[in-house]
This record gives sequence, structure tokens and C-alpha cells, in this order.
Amino acid sequence: MTSTDFGAKKNINTFYPPQRILMGPGPSDTHPRVLSAMARPTLGHLDPVFTDMMEELKSLLRYSFQTSNVMTFPVSGPGSVGMEMCFVNMVSPGDKIIICRNGVFGSRMIENVQRCGGIAIIVDDNWGEPVNPQKVEDALKKNPDTKIIAFVHAETSTGALSDAKTLCEIAQRYNCLTIVDAVTSLGGSPLLVDEWKIDAIYSGSQKCLSCPPGLSPVSFSERVVDLIKNRKTKVQSWFMDLNLVLGYWGETRTYHHTAPTNALYALHEALVMLYEEGLEHSWARHQRNHEALKAGLTTFGTKYLVDAEYRLPQLNSVYVPNAIDEKEVRRRLLAQYNLEIGAGLGDFAGKIWRFGLMGYSSKIDNVMLCLNALETVFSDMGRKISFGAAQTAAHKIYEENPLNSIPIKTI
Ligand SMILES: *Cc1c(COP(=O)(O)O)cnc(C)c1O
Repeated sequence: MTSTDFGAKKNINTFYPPQRILMGPGPSDTHPRVLSAMARPTLGHLDPVFTDMMEELKSLLRYSFQTSNVMTFPVSGPGSVGMEMCFVNMVSPGDKIIICRNGVFGSRMIENVQRCGGIAIIVDDNWGEPVNPQKVEDALKKNPDTKIIAFVHAETSTGALSDAKTLCEIAQRYNCLTIVDAVTSLGGSPLLVDEWKIDAIYSGSQKCLSCPPGLSPVSFSERVVDLIKNRKTKVQSWFMDLNLVLGYWGETRTYHHTAPTNALYALHEALVMLYEEGLEHSWARHQRNHEALKAGLTTFGTKYLVDAEYRLPQLNSVYVPNAIDEKEVRRRLLAQYNLEIGAGLGDFAGKIWRFGLMGYSSKIDNVMLCLNALETVFSDMGRKISFGAAQTAAHKIYEENPLNSIPIKTI
């Protein structure tokens, strides 16, 4: 018997991706140290050397989240799986959950609650604005039997940062637990899980951690552990049932699923790098590069979607200048500069661009390249450009905000 190729044509060969520069809403560029960590030999997922590494990974995540929660580990799956893990474990049929919706990801939370048989009480805010704490409190007054409040800390669809500290304070006053989406905030914006008393939090590897997509760091407080223990119904998902997953990530190390070993080496390396840099310095780096990019973009007359007070440094949403073909600009940036930026979503499709400065992508080289590329592309497309103005404006920011010597921490 001979095999048949089922359409696998002879010209299919090794895949070599082009070297892009990722300045969209994620993924961001992976640091070379992280990429090379992934290329190391695969270990058995119960190998003692590997399980020692898992323990280090958990402690590095505790540092990154600023928490002492025992239940802190990376879920095998993208940020959306981390989101789902929180909801399937914490929501039982009939539970009332307040969901704050000020962008794309709030809508996904609603979908999660409903699929778990919960009742979603929706608190809407305009896209581009942060979650309004007063509205959340009003919803709680109307629904005193609410069990959980869920919101997105850093809304990547718009670039708005919500006040997680205040929202969690309100939740505690009304005896509610919190679920916080920190996919885009972890590593990029101040986030203090224990101090703010966040109960459940999930993030993603591919935004501000300089790591490829596919893993979702999560952390759960003791209060969540109690809640799950006292569930009357089984968690509807076998794969995401925390009790089962912890058989592997906890002390006993029993087989649950084959951990993505090489992907976990990558996250370990990315978190070692975050620790070496220091959280505060990582936050400061994201802020400084944002200020520089903003100064440059302003020379084109572009306006930000989000008010300065709530603006995410790692996700810059700006209105597309009048009478310019925004799609063509993005096409040219990619074709001529290997530079990827993000388009608008929902009502903002065609109206905004989203410039990401996340993780390894948040650096001066990228800010300068981006501004330079925009000048050339705008000029090629017939706009009058004063060449060098955008970069000069950005340089001025760097000059006015020098980086002081950055202490390198060692582990
Ligand atoms: C990217 C993102 C997600 C989803 O993460 P995936 O890894 O794409 O599943 C969820 N929430 C926010 C705020 C995000 O930016």
C-alpha cells in the first residue's frame, strides 16, 4: 500500500516566520532569552527537575502578582482559559454576578457567567472609559445578594485602566468576591493582589511578560478556596476543575494533563527577567515609552481615545487622522517595516489605531521606528510631513525623564 499526500504539496517546507515587530494589542515580541529557553530539551512533566522548576515558577508568579496566595500557578491555555477557569470554578447555577462591561472582554465575562448558569447583572460604561465605581455600588444596593463582581483591569480593546483598588474595596464592603482580568496589566501597570484584596485574578503570557501566547497565570485567595470547597454542584468543566488541576500543581503531583513543558520554561525565563528588572522598573519603563510615543504621535495631530488619567501606557488608542485610509497605513507599516499595529474593534473599527508597547516591545527602538515609519508612510500617502519632528518630540521626553541607574536584582 502506498501513502497518499492528502494535499500536502511538495513545496511545503520548514516554516520560517518573518521577523516582525509587534506593536499591536498582543501578542508582543518575545524576548530572545525566552525564545531560547523554549528550545531546551523537553522533560517529562513529572521529572523531579521539572517539578522543582514548577515551584520556582509559582514563586515568581507570586512576586509578579504581589501575593502570598498558595494557589498561584499558570493554567495551560491562553488568557481566555484563565478567564473561564475563574468563572467555572466560582459560579454555581443561580448565582448573581455583577459584570462590568466597558469593552470587548467584559462581554466575554457575561457569556461565561451565563454558560455556568449564573445570572449576570451588567454594569455598562462607555467604551474608552474606565469602570465607574459609583455605578457598581448602585448595582450592589439593588442586588444585595450578589456573590461576585468581575471586571477588566486593563481593557485592551480601548486602552482604559480601571481603578481595581476602589472596585475591590466596594466588593468587600458588600461581602462579594472579585474576579479581575489582568491579562494586559500584569507587568505593565501597578497591580497589588494582596494589598487590594483581589480574590481571583488571571493574566496572559503574551502581553506585558515578553513571552509567547498560550499560558495564563492565575491566583486565588483563601476565600475562593473555601467557596470551591463548599460547592454543591460539580464544576462543569473537567479540564478546568481547580481541585483536579491542583493534584498536579500542588503537592501530590498526580497526572492531570501533560504540562506544556517547553512553554513553561519560557514563562519561567520571562518571569526571571521581570524579577531581575524589578516590577516597579517594568511599570516605569512602560510609562516612559508611552510618554515618548504619545509626544511623537501628537505631532501628527492625533488624539487619544482615553482621558489621560485612565490611559494605559501599554496600549495607546488614538483616533485615525481625518481622510486617511487607516487600513492602507497598517498594510504599509507591515509590508515596508515589518511593523504590526492594531486596528479598532466594535464601534471603533476603522476609527482608531491601537499601538501596543508591551513587554519586550516596550522599548525606545520601537518607539522611534514606529514614529519614523509613520512619517514616511503618511508622506508617501500624500500628507505633508515635517520629517524628524515626531522623533524629536519623543527624544525630548526621554531627555526630560532620564532613567536613573536601574539596580539589577539577582535571584
Ligand atoms: C488578550 C486578552 C484576553 C484574552 O487572552 P487570550 O490569550 O487571547 O485568550 C483577555 N482579556 C484581556 C483584557 C486581553 O487583553
